[in-house]
Amino acid sequence: MMMSIVSTRTLQLRIKDKHAKIKNQRKDDMHQFSTTLVRKNAAIFVGDVVSAKLVKTKMAKSTLDAGWSSLKTMLEYKSHQAGIVFMEVNEAYSTQTCSCCGSIPASSPKGRAGLGIRAWTCSDCGAAHDRDVNAARNILAAGHRRLAVGISGV
Ligand SMILES: [Zn+2]
Repeated sequence: MMMSIVSTRTLQLRIKDKHAKIKNQRKDDMHQFSTTLVRKNAAIFVGDVVSAKLVKTKMAKSTLDAGWSSLKTMLEYKSHQAGIVFMEVNEAYSTQTCSCCGSIPASSPKGRAGLGIRAWTCSDCGAAHDRDVNAARNILAAGHRRLAVGISGV
């Protein structure tokens, strides 16, 4: 569950595993949050994997999904209204893939054992990664690839 947001300055913000937080926010807060994101960014890319990992947590899946999907819905229609890009991208392997060299090195976080790994170093190219930033970069790159395909396909 993650979201990459690109501003004109290519700032990225990633929201990951923040279901507990989202759940506790009132709808007003979600409206404010989504409006701010849409105002400040030129494109919003959202990872498409929904809570498969989070089902293992003790929180009710339905509650998690409800919070996330209403936030996603708000972002989507507000993006359309504002005329900015909103896109869901495939986030498979975004955590495991090195955003620097593009490989899936032996050292990257994988499976259940990898869930607690916050920082790692690519054994292929030596790049040091923050887990969330690395995954956000991969989602961003996937979003840009999709955009490029869309534009050239017009
Ligand atoms: Zn690498």
